[in-house]
Amino acid sequence: MTKLEQAIVRVERARLAYSKHHVVKIVAVSKYASAAQIGELYAQGQRAFGENKVQDLSAKQTDLAAMPIEWHFIGNLQSNKINKLLDAEPFLLHSLSSLDLARALNARLVLRGKTLDALLQINSSREPSKGGVSPEAAREIYARIADECPALRLRGLMTIGAHTDDKRKINASFALTQRIFEDLKPLGASVLSMGMSGDFEAAIMHGANLLRLGSVLFGES
Ligand SMILES: *Cc1c(COP(=O)(O)O)cnc(C)c1O
Repeated sequence: MTKLEQAIVRVERARLAYSKHHVVKIVAVSKYASAAQIGELYAQGQRAFGENKVQDLSAKQTDLAAMPIEWHFIGNLQSNKINKLLDAEPFLLHSLSSLDLARALNARLVLRGKTLDALLQINSSREPSKGGVSPEAAREIYARIADECPALRLRGLMTIGAHTDDKRKINASFALTQRIFEDLKPLGASVLSMGMSGDFEAAIMHGANLLRLGSVLFGES
């Protein structure tokens, strides 16, 4: 079995344990992968890839222009990189991390006459090193972006699980994000991006429907 097939088997097992009606999609995080490795995974059927640096996203788009890849942006976005990100026209921005960033993106999008699908990032583990809005502020900020930034089409939430081996803490960060997600469904939230190589099964058990998998697909083991 390829690494992709092995990952799909694990995803499928967790998905069925959660609900047979639940649909889960994988974004292959290619930040440490070469264009050739991405091409290999593409040949196996993978279509969605994610990058965390605007520069790398543009470079890989250029290298792989022959393949109709769905590119996701998952990294911290600095405001001086907004234009370059919009030039790349990503399928989905996972890492909308503040109201200020939303306003800045919206202004540039309006100038271009474009829209961008995005997820609000929640700092569910409250780690200072992580981006995203606080769980307490999430609902209000989500509603304000939906209201004030019409060129940004909010689709849901993204979070990074707690950086620890303590499964209870990881589960708590996913459970918290799931509760906020459920509250935002009336506002149209339908995408819940959470789960990485080390914690995707736990994320699926908390309703994740978009996984960001890097090392399990591209790593050595
Ligand atoms: C690198 C990265 C991932 C993938 O991490 P793995 O542990 O390699 O699966 C997922 N999300 C974000 C935001 C990342 O930066």
